[in-house]
Amino acid sequence: MLLKSPPTPMRKPFIAGNWKMYKTIADARALAHGLRSKLDALSDRDVVVCPPFTALAAVAQELQGSSLRWGGQNAHWEREGAFTGDISAHMLADLGCTYAIVGHSERRQVFGETDAMINKRMHGTLAAGLTPIVCIGETLAEREAGKTYAVLERQIKESLAGLNPASTVVVAYEPVWAIGTGQTATPDQAQEAHAFVRKQYAGAYGPPAAQALRILYGGSVKPDNSKFLMEQPDIDGALVGGASLDVESFSKIVRYNL
Ligand code: PEP
Repeated sequence: MLLKSPPTPMRKPFIAGNWKMYKTIADARALAHGLRSKLDALSDRDVVVCPPFTALAAVAQELQGSSLRWGGQNAHWEREGAFTGDISAHMLADLGCTYAIVGHSERRQVFGETDAMINKRMHGTLAAGLTPIVCIGETLAEREAGKTYAVLERQIKESLAGLNPASTVVVAYEPVWAIGTGQTATPDQAQEAHAFVRKQYAGAYGPPAAQALRILYGGSVKPDNSKFLMEQPDIDGALVGGASLDVESFSKIVRYNL
């Protein structure tokens, strides 16, 4: 009898823009409007923008009824409470968000967020019915010290602790040395790290969940390198910072193979 190997699962490409602390409400509206006109027709990939909290309602209005989705750049785990300055995942859901970034390296490095805190944010995001985009990645010093895989292993274990394998999360591998520096990981470096992440995930949550997991690469993704990154078997999409702030450059990244 001929034994067939199982079919390779199709992971829908996922491209998300992290607008960080940029864009007034009017500028965010214009950017969302421009992206909608360029990208709305694409149904074979997921496109998500994560504006600053102040512009979410305006962006939601601009994108309502389109194929584009929007999300928060962070999310608090409690539904409400005395947490001055934070925004809950429940509040993001109220704005029509479907995603929230958690554990971005800027949150880890500038604001001292820990894996334990990020884990709470991930669970709170899921409890609010959103999909978390959980960011992990090593610093330059960690890479140079040969600690990349140990760091990724710890971040996956602790940031995702207690995850139900039936829940949908997106993981973003973002080497800190590549974020906002113009120094992109090579496709081979990124693929190697993504394959490691998928293997770790399979060990913790089982091979089917790992095969379905979408792993994004983030770190100086630009129109001229997105295609080469996306060609790698374990790279399922991109989390884009600087280049997501402009209609032309983000649209080119989303249309990497068109
Ligand atoms: C990011 O902020 O997640 C990011 C990857 O930034 P950049 O694309 O600017 O490196």
